Amino acid sequence: MENCIFCKIVGGEIPCSKIYEDDKVLAFKDINPEAPVHILVIPKEHIQSANEINEKNSHIVAHIFTVVNKIAEEQGIKESGYRIVNNCGDHGGQTVGHIHFHVLGGRNLTWPPG
Ligand code: 5GP
Ligand code: ZN
Repeated sequence: MENCIFCKIVGGEIPCSKIYEDDKVLAFKDINPEAPVHILVIPKEHIQSANEINEKNSHIVAHIFTVVNKIAEEQGIKESGYRIVNNCGDHGGQTVGHIHFHVLGGRNLTWPPG
C-alpha cells in the first residue's frame, strides 16, 4: 500500500527496531514509547483497521495474539501483566491506517484510558 508507513516498515524502506518476524506478522518497538515495554504487532498484509477484519482475514488476528504471548514471555511481562490495545478510527485514536496492536507493559497501567 503506497504511502502507508507501516507497509514501508514491512518493506524495509523505513527502519524499525524489530522484535519478531514471520511470514505473516512483524513486531517492532514503538517510536514513541508510552511504557517501558511498548511494541507494535502488525500484519504484513495491509489491513486498514479493525473495521476490515472479516471471516477471511481474522486468522491473522488470532495469530497476532499467539505472537503477543511469545513477546510477553520474552520481554518478561507475562507474569506481571500487560495491555493489548487496538485503536480503531478517529475517536479510537488511530493515527496510522494499518491495523496494529500495541503491547504495553513494564509498569502499572491505569484504567480507564482518556
Ligand atoms: P495509533 O495511534 O494509530 O494507535 O498508534 C500508532 C503508533 O505508531 C504510535 O504509538 C506511534 O508512536 C507509532 N509510530 C508512528 N510512526 C512510527 C514509525 O515510523 N516507527 C515506529 N516504530 N512507530 C511509529
Ligand atoms: Zn499498510
